[in-house]
Amino acid sequence: MDKEYKLGSVVMMKKPHPCGTNLWEIVRIGADIKIKCINCSRVIMLPRIEFNKKLKKVVTF
Ligand SMILES: [Zn+2]
Repeated sequence: MDKEYKLGSVVMMKKPHPCGTNLWEIVRIGADIKIKCINCSRVIMLPRIEFNKKLKKVVTF
C-alpha cells in the first residue's frame, strides 16, 4: 500500500468523477489538497485527512 504523493502526482480516488474518469492530478498540497480531474479539468479541494481517506492509489508518483 503506497500512498506517497507529491505535487503533480496522478492519483486514483475511491469514487470516480461523474465525467467518467477517475484520474486526478495533484495541483496543490497544503492543509488542503487540490486535485484536478484529468478528463474535464474540474478542480476540487479536500482537507488532507479527507483526501487520504478517499485516495485509492497513486498512479504516477
Ligand atoms: Zn471530471
